[in-house]
Amino acid sequence: MYALSLAQSISTVRERIAEAAVRAGRRPEDVLLVAVSKGVAVEAIEEALAAGLTVFGESKVQEAEEKARALRGRNVRWHMVGHLQRNKAGPAVRLFDLIHSVDSVRLLEALEGHAAEAGRSQPVLIQVNLAGEESKYGVPEEKLGPLAEAARVLEKVRVEGLMTIPPFDEDPEKSRPLYRRLRELAERYGFRHLSMGMSGDFEVAVEEGATMVRVGTVLFGERQYA
Ligand SMILES: *Cc1c(COP(=O)(O)O)cnc(C)c1O
Repeated sequence: MYALSLAQSISTVRERIAEAAVRAGRRPEDVLLVAVSKGVAVEAIEEALAAGLTVFGESKVQEAEEKARALRGRNVRWHMVGHLQRNKAGPAVRLFDLIHSVDSVRLLEALEGHAAEAGRSQPVLIQVNLAGEESKYGVPEEKLGPLAEAARVLEKVRVEGLMTIPPFDEDPEKSRPLYRRLRELAERYGFRHLSMGMSGDFEVAVEEGATMVRVGTVLFGERQYA
């Protein structure tokens, strides 16, 4: 049912990522497309798998668990892109290859405990609230240093980069200074990954150094919830 149009939107998004990378003198393969599948039916995820996508972003642990169960045995990697509550740290460690949204020492410590228990390491990104929006999760820029410092002593949790969500704006150029700032911060702390860019502004993010873009709507169409 979705096959044709979904496959087409995937290839269009891939082309747009590649062109933005080339404009910035980067290699397209250095940008991971995380297909944000929150609110998307399992059937559509299967179509996306058939079209070659493997990494899916979810924003609710329970929804991700249900989809993972339905797709067990398939080559799917799940990323947590939404806010993670500490009491969901256990299931999150069991399910997600990467958690994009760590924003407190207490969450880091909860993840460390569960990762140790599970005998695995847990890659994470720190979410930074660069615009200082009240409504957004993430650490303010001035708390990034202390959080990165607290993470250094952990044995199982590995901070591999930074993530940010800019304020919504029709104009993608409004995101550019924030993405540039996130890259400067990642360089300062020696982090490799930058998770930035959504449907409305992923090309700007790629031009500014994104190593992962989180794209939902332009792949799967409008969702029931944000
Ligand atoms: C929903 C969501 C996305 C995808 O947004 P689109 O505008 O649909 O591409 C990306 N990142 C996060 C954190 C999200 O919650």
